[in-house]
Amino acid sequence: MVLLVTGRCHSSCFYCPLSEGKRGHDVIYANERPVDTVEEAIEEAHLIDAEGTGVTGGDPVDALDRTVSMVIALKAEFGEAHHVHLYTSAPLSGDQLLTLSEAGLDEVRFHPPADTLADIDATGYPGSVAVAAEMGMEVGYEVPVLPDMEEELRAFLGSLVDDEGAPFVNLNELEFSSTNAEALLGHGYTVRGDESAAVQESEELGRLMVEQFAGSGLRVHYCSASFKDAIQLRNRLKRRAENVARPHELVTEDQTILKAVVECDDPGEVARDLMTRFDVPADLMVVDTERGVLELAAWVAEALEADIDGDCYLIEEYPTWDRLEVERVPMRQIREG
Ligand code: SF4
Repeated sequence: MVLLVTGRCHSSCFYCPLSEGKRGHDVIYANERPVDTVEEAIEEAHLIDAEGTGVTGGDPVDALDRTVSMVIALKAEFGEAHHVHLYTSAPLSGDQLLTLSEAGLDEVRFHPPADTLADIDATGYPGSVAVAAEMGMEVGYEVPVLPDMEEELRAFLGSLVDDEGAPFVNLNELEFSSTNAEALLGHGYTVRGDESAAVQESEELGRLMVEQFAGSGLRVHYCSASFKDAIQLRNRLKRRAENVARPHELVTEDQTILKAVVECDDPGEVARDLMTRFDVPADLMVVDTERGVLELAAWVAEALEADIDGDCYLIEEYPTWDRLEVERVPMRQIREG
C-alpha cells in the first residue's frame, strides 16, 4: 500500500510530482483513497491484501506523530512480516530514528535534494544513514534521475562506494506530471515522446549509472516509470479488483471492472420490472440512488437491452476507491455494430 501521511513537505523540489490536491495540504491518502483514520487506512490495506506499506508524503516526518501511529497500527494489524518503509527528504536525528524504529519501521529511504548530491558528505544524510543502520533498519537513498546531472549523480554514487555497510540506492525515472510540467520544461527537459510521460534521457542515465557501478559493491537499482505502472500498479489493481468486485461486476484481464449501467427516471422501478418479467436475480442489480442509475451485470444487460426502460451503457472502471471510469459505450451502439 502507498500511504501518504501528509501532503506537507519542508522541501521544494522543482520536479515535485504531487498533485494539486495533495501538495502542501495536510491530507492522508491510502492508495487513491482519502482517509481520516488509521482504521480506514487498514481497511484499504486489507482490500489490496497488502504485504507491505510505503509511507510517503509530502514528507512523513512533517507529521511524525501520525506517521508513528500508522506504523504501529499496521504492524499490530498485519504482524511483523508486513514490511514498512518510509521516504523522507530530511536527514533524521537519532531521536526521530529511534522513535520510528521502536514503532516497528523496517526501512528508511532518504531523498536528498538535487543540489546536495555532488557533496553528500557535507550534509547530515550520511550520519542519519549510519544511525539507522546501527538500529537495524534497512537504509538507502532514493532519487529521481535528472538527465542534466550526470556528474553530480556519479559523484554521489562514487562517495558511497567503499562505505562500510553502504546504503542501497534506488534511481527512479523522472516523469512529467500536471504539476511539474512547467518547471521541467523550464529546465530544458523534454518528454520521451512515446506513450509514457517519462523525461527524455532519464532512463539512459539511470541505466548508465547502474552499469558503471556494477561490481563496485554498491547496490544501485533503477526503476522505470513503466515498471511502476505495468507491474506495481497492475498487481495492486488486481488484488483490489478481486476483493471488491460484487456479483454483478466482472474483473477483466486488464484488472478493470466491467458492468452495465442503466440511466433512467426510476432505477428502483426498472429493477423491479426486470425481476418480475425476466427473473433477474437481485444480486445482479444494484440501485445507486446517489447517481440515479441502475447497475446491472453486463451479460444481463446484453441479453435484455432492448427490453430495458432506459439508456444502457457498458462501462469499465478501475477497482480503486474513486472507481475512475475509463470507458463508457452505449449498448445500442454495440448491438447495432
Ligand atoms: S521531497 Fe518529495 S514531496 Fe517534498 S517537494 Fe521534494 S518531491 Fe515533493
